[in-house]
Amino acid sequence: MHIVTVRYEGAERVGTLSPSGDIALPDDGGPLRFEDLLLDVDAGLTALRAATGVVSAGLLAPVPRPRNIVCIGRNYADHAAEGDSEAPAEPLIFMKHTGSVIGPGDEIRWDPGLTGQVDWEAELGVVIGRRAWQVPAERALEHVLGYTCLNDVSARDLQFADGQWVRAKSLATFCPMGPAVVTADEVPDPQALPIRCLVNGVVMQEASTKQMVHSVAAIIAHCSRAFPLLPGDVIATGTPSGVGVFRDPPILLKDGDEVVVEIDGVGRLTNRCATPPVSF
Ligand code: MG
Repeated sequence: MHIVTVRYEGAERVGTLSPSGDIALPDDGGPLRFEDLLLDVDAGLTALRAATGVVSAGLLAPVPRPRNIVCIGRNYADHAAEGDSEAPAEPLIFMKHTGSVIGPGDEIRWDPGLTGQVDWEAELGVVIGRRAWQVPAERALEHVLGYTCLNDVSARDLQFADGQWVRAKSLATFCPMGPAVVTADEVPDPQALPIRCLVNGVVMQEASTKQMVHSVAAIIAHCSRAFPLLPGDVIATGTPSGVGVFRDPPILLKDGDEVVVEIDGVGRLTNRCATPPVSF
């Protein structure tokens, strides 16, 4: 099942997206918003599977308000190598501010007076459905609601100047995700997913999630030894090689560019870039 959040008749609603593109909303008594689904995942999923009311509505980020966005750095060896570093022995954790979330079709925007080096990072997003606290890797995937496409957009000049990454990766609009959360039952092996990023139709990143240094299960186990992963948390699992800043010459995003994050079986997330002439 593909779970989406939509704007319908002025209200935000959680629903489903069919392979043919139909959006359906659950019947009365079903979850209204994504957070309602998390209150009782089993009942919520049952109600969504029974959704029949097909509507015309615009897609928002499928998880409009993640509880946290936990990110993993240098989780593909070839990406670590292109940045002249090594993949860490244990998952390297940082956070992205939840105020950065946008949905499919929304614009990635930035103030050119703040950053001049905006870059893409195609990543598999993992959406936690059940609280995970001190779970072993063997049981970790039981806590996953589903998977989505995520772009860990990064202001490289701020990233390198700050020395840590939170500000550079948290600018407003710098966390596009979607279009849907594909439930875990439809993704039997999250380590076997072709993933790519296209900028203006040109393939910039192309890899498989099997190349992750630390698997989704290992990441959940590692994080949950330190802090509970909460329903509605999103994990950005790291990006493969092919980002713009390490190319020779570097390629950086500019006004009007179209960025696509595509993961086979999970979806295709498209956003366009815009640099407003003034602060927004
Ligand atoms: Mg990243």
